[in-house]
Amino acid sequence: MAVMRPLDQITKRSIASRRYRAKLQSLGKCIYCRQPNDTPHLKGCTTCREKYHQANIDNYGINREKELARKRRQNAKIKLKALSMISGLATPVCVYCGCEDILILTVNHKNGGGEKERKRLNKWGMHFQYLIVKGKRNTDGLEVACVVCNALHYVNLKYPDLGKRFIVKFQ
Ligand SMILES: [Zn+2]
Ligand SMILES: [Zn+2]
Repeated sequence: MAVMRPLDQITKRSIASRRYRAKLQSLGKCIYCRQPNDTPHLKGCTTCREKYHQANIDNYGINREKELARKRRQNAKIKLKALSMISGLATPVCVYCGCEDILILTVNHKNGGGEKERKRLNKWGMHFQYLIVKGKRNTDGLEVACVVCNALHYVNLKYPDLGKRFIVKFQ
């Protein structure tokens, strides 16, 4: 992913061909600026290596943002698909309160143990949903619930008497 970015004199074109690079190195010259290399055991002189290093850092910063944005879009797609498969609805909704906002919808384990399963798989969040999308985890025992109802479901399983005292209403 670390594609070289043109920086100052250093461009892809300024890097010598492979054979020429070998020759430059054998002559103790920098393969980037073709000047005498102060570190002949390495391909580039100190100045060029530092510049190259910086170019990679800058470039990584740019790619990182793009990469993160791409991942977010991809994860959103996976989530929608997984929730659709579980609920059987094109637009999944919380089975308890009817909330339909994908932002807060989650996969709920009807009988609990969701955390355990995620830990056991050592794949949590998107990974778990990815397994569902890929058909590697069936949707048995799963339902779609919003984070609020998911939390209440947890309370109900653990402290039934306390859970009874809550009512979640989505409007
Ligand atoms: Zn150089
Ligand atoms: Zn809900």
